[in-house]
Amino acid sequence: MELTASRAMPGHGWVLAACLLLLMGLFAALVSATQLRPGESLPVEVQPRSDGVVQLRFELPAQVTTRWALWFPREPVSRLQLVAADGWRSETLQFFSVGADEGILPAGYAFLLPRDAHGPMTLEAEMAGGLHGSLRPVLAQATDVRRVERSGVALAAAVYGGLLALAALALALAHASRDRLFIGFFGFTVALVLLLQAMNGHLYGLPGVRFFGLWQLQGVSALTVLHAAAALWLIEAYAMHGRGYRHARLVRGLGIGLIALAAVFLLNLPWLAQVSQAVSASGWTLAGLAVLCMLVDAGRRGVPMAWTLTAATAFSVLAGVWISLSRHGLAPNGPLLHFGYQGTAVAFALVLALSLTHRIGDYRNQRDRDRLARQDTERRMRREAARADLSTALQTQLNGLDPGEIPWQGFRLLMDHLLPLVPTESCIAVLRGYQGRDHLLVEPSDALPSVEHEINHRGLTLRRQAVAGLALQQPVRASAGGPAVAMEALVPFQMRAPGWGVLLLRRAGGDGFTTEEMSVIGELARVVQLHVDQAAAAVKLRRSAEIDALTGTMNRRTIDLWIGRTFTDAERSGRPVSVLFIDLDHFKSVNDRYGHACGDDCLRAVSTALRSVLSDADMFGRYGGEEFIAVLPGRDGAEARAVGERMRTAVENCEVRHETQRVRLTVSIGIATRQRGEDAPAAAVARADKALYAAKRQGRNCVQVAPAVFS
Ligand code: GH3
Ligand code: MG
Ligand code: MG
Repeated sequence: MELTASRAMPGHGWVLAACLLLLMGLFAALVSATQLRPGESLPVEVQPRSDGVVQLRFELPAQVTTRWALWFPREPVSRLQLVAADGWRSETLQFFSVGADEGILPAGYAFLLPRDAHGPMTLEAEMAGGLHGSLRPVLAQATDVRRVERSGVALAAAVYGGLLALAALALALAHASRDRLFIGFFGFTVALVLLLQAMNGHLYGLPGVRFFGLWQLQGVSALTVLHAAAALWLIEAYAMHGRGYRHARLVRGLGIGLIALAAVFLLNLPWLAQVSQAVSASGWTLAGLAVLCMLVDAGRRGVPMAWTLTAATAFSVLAGVWISLSRHGLAPNGPLLHFGYQGTAVAFALVLALSLTHRIGDYRNQRDRDRLARQDTERRMRREAARADLSTALQTQLNGLDPGEIPWQGFRLLMDHLLPLVPTESCIAVLRGYQGRDHLLVEPSDALPSVEHEINHRGLTLRRQAVAGLALQQPVRASAGGPAVAMEALVPFQMRAPGWGVLLLRRAGGDGFTTEEMSVIGELARVVQLHVDQAAAAVKLRRSAEIDALTGTMNRRTIDLWIGRTFTDAERSGRPVSVLFIDLDHFKSVNDRYGHACGDDCLRAVSTALRSVLSDADMFGRYGGEEFIAVLPGRDGAEARAVGERMRTAVENCEVRHETQRVRLTVSIGIATRQRGEDAPAAAVARADKALYAAKRQGRNCVQVAPAVFS
């Protein structure tokens, strides 16, 4: 996951930003409710006397009906009591131990003045322990003080409630995303809640955690540095996510140092009590500066929300430094500083929460990427399976086919395997001069007549596109210049010129074919072509071993094979078989007179003439030289003689033209018929041979049938 600057703020980001604004508004309203309005308080002259005693002088109006109260914001002092010269003493209030009647979230120290007090008054405030540089009294009517107190409780409850809700959200996100950064954010938020409670003095009034008061100021210091360490770690993980940060070691070292410091504070060593606040404030400020540096760097790199976080950090650091200086009496203490600091801390936590939710967008993107990858794998597997299926089907189904049928069957299989993978309205395979023939395959087949017409019309263009060899997509228009009614994918086949071929797939509407689909079409088409070419070559090879090259009839090897089978079958069925031996008469002289080339032409012409007499069930071939053989299953001697006569006449009537020559030829034919019990052809062949010699002896151009036994 890489965080990028270019990504727009996601929808949930805007929702969270709106919530943040609403919360800030609520916070401001609550803070304003914790302040007395002008005219509601009376001036108090404060004069520090000796250590721990401050003299307070003020004048109360002479109205007996209203009761007055002195109110101090809650700052960490271990004891605070008011004493009057006449011996009146207020109750003693403590920061680290909240009284039962103060409630669990007291906002300050409120002292009710004696009911009858009026006129000029002088009181001494006795304070012990802790920091009281910013302890400024407010004199107001008791009812107004109570109002301010109640608003303070509401404000504190809202802040803690909001932060705890953030912590719960962080836990839920950590569980859902298994991202440790959200656990870090949970720890950071819980540490912030504890720190704010300790600083406001609320931790010591809560059942279950009151014991924290034992650590007094050192407990606050420990929580301060723990919170700083949590922020440091979290920002390092957020802002430097996925990159080796140069100063990562320094940052982590600082974090570990802060945690060690917290552990030392928790030892509650007496000599540390005085300096713990200063030390923790320095550590906290140092961590704040480190966080600022990292955020500025992240902002420059375009990490989302980094600049907003930088601003929030800068405000919290300033407010934190100011509040800690004012507690030591080193900086002026405005009335809103106490809340301002808490406000910036909460705002920082909220902005951080907002920034972290950006990562939810990253998870979504990751999930989308995973889904795409899975779909891609499934598609690839489907494609592989289709390819393997197609190969198997081609291997089994192209075998033993007539050469003319091989391309047709191959491209039929292509369509069967391609269409489930690439859904289309129609699929057309145009093959011209492929393996010596033209083919047009159309799916669905009832569209064939209209497709035929269209293909003839587009012939030249298609041919040019096929020869260019580039797969492409083009819109199909019902009329020239009209709107596109379909998309057509055109995938050319790689064919040897002058042959060419294309596959046309059509999809209705404007939906085009994806790159993936185009590549599948091309791949399966190549597979089919490879198999078709191989099957055709295999047939050619097989034929060349079986066929006589000169005449295109069977050669002797094939005839021997078939004649043997015919005799076995005939013996089993008891049917006759006749064998005819045909020899050209005086062929040597034809060669001698007209040349060998003319002789070859004669052999071809005679072969055609002889074949023309035979039926499909008969076998015919060149036995060698100028001798031919015919095997006629199911025909006896008389029938064979008739066939032989027709053969002889056919040759006699045939005139061979070679260049300027005209050659006439004759043949002599010897016939033998299978005898009962003969399941091999040798004897019959020998008898036919003898009959042929007899025909030659008889003067040639005649037919002789061999008797059952030659004398
Ligand atoms: P006959 O059979 O009538 O007794 O006379 P013939 O001249 O045909 O007899 P022979 O068997 O002596 O001659 C056969 C000739 O056929 C010899 C050879 O020149 C010719 N021959 C054999 N095979 C081929 C061939 O493939 N092409 C050509 N042009 N001639 C061939
Ligand atoms: Mg011969
Ligand atoms: Mg001869």
